[in-house]
Amino acid sequence: MNSIGRELVHIHGVVLGNYRADYETDIEFHLGGGRIRFFTECTCPVGYQCKHAAALLFQCQALRSTDDFDSEAADIDF
Ligand SMILES: [Zn+2]
Repeated sequence: MNSIGRELVHIHGVVLGNYRADYETDIEFHLGGGRIRFFTECTCPVGYQCKHAAALLFQCQALRSTDDFDSEAADIDF
């Protein structure tokens, strides 16, 4: 049986660093059982749950609210 309702969403982003090279940030969303858990990973000294991950999350939420992102869902006819 497939585990229906289980989803994994992976986001990868590059965030500009203040002092040196850019940081690469990964976020994994685990959707399942009515809960969303997420794990962050970053190449900066902090490593996880840092401001770069927060910035990437914020960026994704901004994208979700655009018309482009929702256009497919809006076309579904029940
Ligand atoms: Zn970071």
